This record gives sequence, C-alpha cells and structure tokens, in this order.
Amino acid sequence: MKKLYTPDGNVQEIKINKSLYGKNTELAEKNLELLNQHNILAIDILGSIGSGKTSIIQQLVGKLHQKYRTAAIAGDITTTIDADRIKNRGAEVLQINTDGGCHLDANLVRIGLEALDLKSFDLILIENVGNLICPGGFPVGAHQRIVVVSTTEGPYMIIKHPYIFKDASVVIINKIDLAEAMEVDLEQLKKDALKIKPNIEVVFTNARTGHGIPELIKSLKINEK
Ligand code: MG
Ligand code: ZN
Repeated sequence: MKKLYTPDGNVQEIKINKSLYGKNTELAEKNLELLNQHNILAIDILGSIGSGKTSIIQQLVGKLHQKYRTAAIAGDITTTIDADRIKNRGAEVLQINTDGGCHLDANLVRIGLEALDLKSFDLILIENVGNLICPGGFPVGAHQRIVVVSTTEGPYMIIKHPYIFKDASVVIINKIDLAEAMEVDLEQLKKDALKIKPNIEVVFTNARTGHGIPELIKSLKINEK
C-alpha cells in the first residue's frame, strides 16, 4: 500500500486513480506551475541508498529554515526514518512510502504538494527514492535536480551513470573524509562529472560535519529562485 505521512501525524493510503496517469512530463510541468504560483523553489535530490541524501537535507534544513520556510517530501519504499530525521531539524516533512516503487513520479509528488499548505513555504526539498537509475526518467516538476554520490560507492559511480547527471545542476560528492580509505580520487570524480556535463556544479561535502554545506547552498542559487 502506498502511504502518505503528513506533518501533523496522519497516515493516508495513496490510491492512484488510474485516470490521473497522464504523461509524467506533463504532470511534472503542472507541478512546476503550481510551485511557481506559490513562489516556491523545489529541489529534487537523487542518489543511491546510503549516499547521504537525508543527511544533506538535514544540513540544508538546519542552515536554511530560519530564512526560508522549508518543507521536505521524503520518498522511500517503506519506513518514516527519514521524515523523522529531517523533522528534528525544523522543517515540515511529508513521507511518501512507495510500497516497492523505486522512484517518485510527478503524480506522487503532486499528491504530496496537495497535502501541504503551499502558502506556508518558500522552499521544498524532495528526497527521491534511493536509486540512481530510473528516477532520471521521471522528472517530478522541481526547479533543480541535484545528485548525491558518496566516495563509499567507489571510483566509477559517476561515469557509470551518465544519464542521471545530464539533467542535474549540481553533483554533491559526499563522505570526502572517507575518500582516502576508499582509494577514491576526488578530482577524478569531479572530472568525470564535468565530462558528462561541462556546466554542472561539483561540491565536495561531509554531511556529518557540515563541511561543504555553505558551498552547496551557493551552488543552489536559492536566492535567485
Ligand atoms: Mg534517505
Ligand atoms: Zn523506478
């Protein structure tokens, strides 16, 4: 069963009315329109399980929620672990459980957006399901897409997944404190990303300590919307 956990603690079953299924890209455009009507910036955050997406969101929420009214939509196959982690940092969080679905799509994100009081937010961070393959084919209607990779995923993470980086504005290379132990060359990872997309921003972080988070915020161009 697909479930939605709202910020006020309610759990709803998500029933997908088949007639709602249009082309994902059209639904994504409608989501973007809705966000623009409310002057909200939305960022779709992709990355494998364990790459550090939730930790990055925790850091961003911690740094931004005083200035920008921030909500997060956390997508996971099951559990509310991520929503609980992010809530602790001061954002309103919706958890979407996809019940086996390996990505969020524009329709699920729409259901999430409709469950939020959009007048109350300036920034929405969307944590996609942990997976670097198929979310690439399902835009959700965010303004920007960022991809988190971790040094613990080894040296070939970027060159093996070129498609996901083509639509991204920022790649975060996380867990840089472990690069040496993993024998991963950070500059090579950066080169790999720039080879796929010459204008992508590359940011090095350690999400546990907050290293690199100010640079990440700069690269998101949040002020410009
Ligand atoms: Mg997570
Ligand atoms: Zn999928």
